[in-house]
Amino acid sequence: MKSAVDPGMLQPATPPVDRLGRGLRDLRVSVIETCNYRCPYCMPEDSTPPESALDRARRLDFAQIESVVRGFVRMGVRKVRLTGGEPLLRKDLPLLVSRLAAIPGVEDLALTTNASLLAGKAQALRDAGLHRLTISLDALDPEIFRQLSGGRGDVADVLAGIAAAEAAGFSSIKFNTVVQRGVNEGEVLRLVDHFRGTPHVLRFIEFMDVGTCNGWQPQAVVSSRELHDSIHARWPLRPLQPGYRGEVAARHAFLDGQGEVGFVSSVSEPFCGDCQRARLSADGQVFTCLFAAKGSDLRPAIELGGTAIEARIAEIWGQRADRYSELRDAGRRDSKKIEMFFIGG
Ligand code: SAM
Ligand code: SF4
Ligand code: SF4
Repeated sequence: MKSAVDPGMLQPATPPVDRLGRGLRDLRVSVIETCNYRCPYCMPEDSTPPESALDRARRLDFAQIESVVRGFVRMGVRKVRLTGGEPLLRKDLPLLVSRLAAIPGVEDLALTTNASLLAGKAQALRDAGLHRLTISLDALDPEIFRQLSGGRGDVADVLAGIAAAEAAGFSSIKFNTVVQRGVNEGEVLRLVDHFRGTPHVLRFIEFMDVGTCNGWQPQAVVSSRELHDSIHARWPLRPLQPGYRGEVAARHAFLDGQGEVGFVSSVSEPFCGDCQRARLSADGQVFTCLFAAKGSDLRPAIELGGTAIEARIAEIWGQRADRYSELRDAGRRDSKKIEMFFIGG
């Protein structure tokens, strides 16, 4: 499935390094700027633009996305993740997957989805060459799930999507759970119990102050430490070594051999020092941080073609000095920030 290629052949003569000495290994590609859910922590119904205000006409087409990904791969990227908004809303997504899976040097091609539409698409995505899936799942209780989808989702659809993904051959799926105090803390042990003993890995992500409209308050964050301790009290855990440099989730195995869980501590233990990730919005802007106020437009370089894309990426990366999460406690909270549904987490 993975492209057999000598990575040395793809390495740029001078791999770009940002102003803090960080390389570029990881790319998130948002394929769509809208969603069928309205999760209050991401795209709350009452404070996000109506569908009609979103500018579909500016979405990159598949050929443009492929050119950009090829450019990033030539600049050192090896991991590509498709996201959104909700990426499964993008028409003919498996066609894009097959184009990206065929790029020599893409060692890992993954997709993050709310899985509401996965049941009918899992096999086509697998057949197109998608390597891995991450599914967002914040609750198993149907009422809490519905509330967390902004009143739009049905957990039964997600469970059907998971079953279809397993049947299609996605053997180890990652699940992302955002825990908010007073909202879904009660779902944590239930979710752990559900996935323990399966090949899948549940990862708890601290509720982040992304964007400007989710009403984030520090008190609503349930820290990874607190989550770890409550899980450990029920099913003892031991820490595992990171799978690779820059892995964002701290991995922990169940002592009884029933699998592992992960904790992404972007608020309590920021990991900016290892952040080698760029983000591409559906309309062709590059963001060098999840909390950036604005992106850099790649479209002029896409139109020029040739090596213009790499040159622009190198220029953007060379100017990068982002470390928002490390500065959060120092009181630097920019009021202007891109919304999460726009660049995909
Ligand atoms: N719609 C897809 C989904 O939900 O999986 C992909 C895009 S969504 C923006 C990507 C991830 O961002 C999801 O796992 C979601 O839980 C996470 N996310 C959104 N807002 C967040 C927040 N305020 N704090 C932490 N994670 C957040
Ligand atoms: Fe949509 Fe994903 Fe944001 Fe929820 S987290 S509103 S599913 S983009
Ligand atoms: Fe990377 Fe920005 Fe997150 Fe720090 S705050 S880890 S620089 S995306």
